[in-house]
Amino acid sequence: MKVDRLQTPVDYLKGVGPNRADLLRKELGIHTYQDLLNLFPNRYIDRTKYYKIRELQQTSAEVQIVGKIIHLKTIGQKRGKRLVATFMDDTGKMELVWFRGHKWIAESLKINEPYVIFGKLNFFNGVFSMPHPDMELLKDHKSGIQQVLQPVYPSTEKLSKKISNKSIIKIMQNAFMESKNSFYETLPDSIRKQYKLISRAEAMFNIHFPQSTALLKKAESRLKFEELFYLQLQLIRKNILRKQKIKGYAFEKVGGFFNDFYKNHLPFELTNAQKRVIKEIRKDLGSGAQMNRLLQGDVGSGKTIVAFMTCLLAIDNGFQACIMAPTEILAIQHYNGLKEYGDALGIKLSLLTGSTKKSDRKILHENLREGEINILIGTHALIEDKVVFKNLGLAIIDEQHRFGVAQRAKLWKKNNLPPNVLVMTATPIPRTLAMSLYGDLDISVIDELPPGRKPIKTVHRYDKNRLKVQAFMREEIAKGRQIYIVYPLIEESQMMDYKDLQDGYESISRDFPKPEYQVSVVHGKMKPADKDFEMDRFAQGKTQIMVATTVIEVGVNVPNASVMIIESAERFGLSQLHQLRGRVGRGAEQSYCILMTSHKLSKDSQTRIQTMTSTNDGFKIAEVDLKLRGPGDIMGTQQSGVLNLKIADIVTDNAILKAARQYAHHILKIDPNLQKPEHHMVNHTYSMLVKHKNIWNYIS
Ligand code: ADP
Ligand code: MG
Repeated sequence: MKVDRLQTPVDYLKGVGPNRADLLRKELGIHTYQDLLNLFPNRYIDRTKYYKIRELQQTSAEVQIVGKIIHLKTIGQKRGKRLVATFMDDTGKMELVWFRGHKWIAESLKINEPYVIFGKLNFFNGVFSMPHPDMELLKDHKSGIQQVLQPVYPSTEKLSKKISNKSIIKIMQNAFMESKNSFYETLPDSIRKQYKLISRAEAMFNIHFPQSTALLKKAESRLKFEELFYLQLQLIRKNILRKQKIKGYAFEKVGGFFNDFYKNHLPFELTNAQKRVIKEIRKDLGSGAQMNRLLQGDVGSGKTIVAFMTCLLAIDNGFQACIMAPTEILAIQHYNGLKEYGDALGIKLSLLTGSTKKSDRKILHENLREGEINILIGTHALIEDKVVFKNLGLAIIDEQHRFGVAQRAKLWKKNNLPPNVLVMTATPIPRTLAMSLYGDLDISVIDELPPGRKPIKTVHRYDKNRLKVQAFMREEIAKGRQIYIVYPLIEESQMMDYKDLQDGYESISRDFPKPEYQVSVVHGKMKPADKDFEMDRFAQGKTQIMVATTVIEVGVNVPNASVMIIESAERFGLSQLHQLRGRVGRGAEQSYCILMTSHKLSKDSQTRIQTMTSTNDGFKIAEVDLKLRGPGDIMGTQQSGVLNLKIADIVTDNAILKAARQYAHHILKIDPNLQKPEHHMVNHTYSMLVKHKNIWNYIS
């Protein structure tokens, strides 16, 4: 392997002096031949197309023309001095212009010989001209490394002034000449055959110097596959190693509590998806390796009962469990909902939040340490050092995206071995992204809603339709239903949003006057006690309308509320809109979501609104969201490396990602330590990858 040659500093490359080398280092981080070869083009210019002079249009794109110079002259004075050639083909005439190097150019140009010229056009006084054209005699044009598709390399403002794209192409050609045999293959033959992937050497050549559009496509696919394959191999391997290394508490038996609950107290038949997920969890918990599982399920898909039954497995095996929620409201709701079941089974649940009284807290701490509490439910107050369990075996985290990694790590220290962890999220992450993001987590998905739910009807209304919307609200309230009205809350302009909310509240109170109508209001600036008071009034049906900011986004459960009105809906992101909509549709009645917007909508807003009105499927919505925003805004992507991908795109290269992941799985299954001779190259590449962190630093 001639890896050493690829590590040669660029300074030594033909065409790169010390100055250029310095620029390449500073501007593009290119230190070695290898770094240079890994500078992939942004785009390609089609050099297969030839224009006739008569066809030319005033465009800024580059054009390529075949013709002859019939006349040359130098005109102008001093700084305005320039060389002008009259260039013609069989359809017309144009000018070629040089502002520098006239003398040398004038001497080297041949009159009346066919040239291929290439460059950008200017149009002035009815005449097309091309400044500093790229030219070649037609007879020479077909020799050398053919440039059917001419690469355009990434550059910076500073760099492009000193080194033109054309120079980079030259330098790249030199680098290629000098390191031609240094590209070693990184993918086994079998896989290359199966997916029809070209060799690495061929791919590298064609990504820089595509011999045809078809070969360029093949080069791209091959390099994308390679990139995604090694990303997945790393993630999956990490997961396997974690399972081997990190012992967890095994919940070997399914015991009395679980069975009693399942047979005698389960309030409804579980959906098939819930059953499947519980099986997946049980298998994990029995294995003796620490469980680290992500449970995804759309709002209302019934994650809570799965969480509770998982707790029962812990208790059946002599362990305690805890459930951590992101807000106090949600913790209380979980506690109230699950306490009933606990009472029926004879197990003890306790609640711990920031507002738990000091005296109560002391007793709770003691009970917890003695093992009298079976399930502790609460907010992040749970992770405080003072909270000590007798034997914590399971930690469930609801709405994972609101907790940081460091916070989760604290939970691990609550027992000798880390507890089994189940992370639940209602933010649907498209499966392909989840696979890449959480490759080191196992994933369960509840992809089915409990039966009998009527899909929420979602409509878009403009502000001017407000009277009609109000009439509809009155009808629903007359039927005994309740209504949410939500105003946006954006960090930067809290004052303004607060005003929007206040104005909204006042006009609602005017249009829906007491005593016939009662209106609650909840926003982030209220004291927790006042907030709870207002929430309670609404939950108990004492008020019919709840005016709120997005504080109600997470988890609030009032089954009788059947209408969600979102004001200035254009200001919300897709996943937030979907979460808000999930607050209704929880009862047996038909529910509605009304998206209110002004008339002027950006294209993205239109797409968001249109997506919301056309589907209730959280995963479909997440896919659109991903396409609109890119993966950068989705929680977790920053750490995962999916954004550092060089050639593959996590959104558009879905199919390749799937294949690459499948293959990574397969190879680790048949050869877990990559010891087979045919996997030697994979092992080598993998260990370089782990060592250098960045796949592209070693691979060529
Ligand atoms: P989420 O996944 O959003 O946390 P929940 O666990 O709060 O959903 O469940 C939403 C509602 O659906 C609750 O009222 C719950 O009792 C009910 N539910 C859950 N599973 C089922 C089921 N299999 N059949 C009927 N109702 C169910
Ligand atoms: Mg929930």
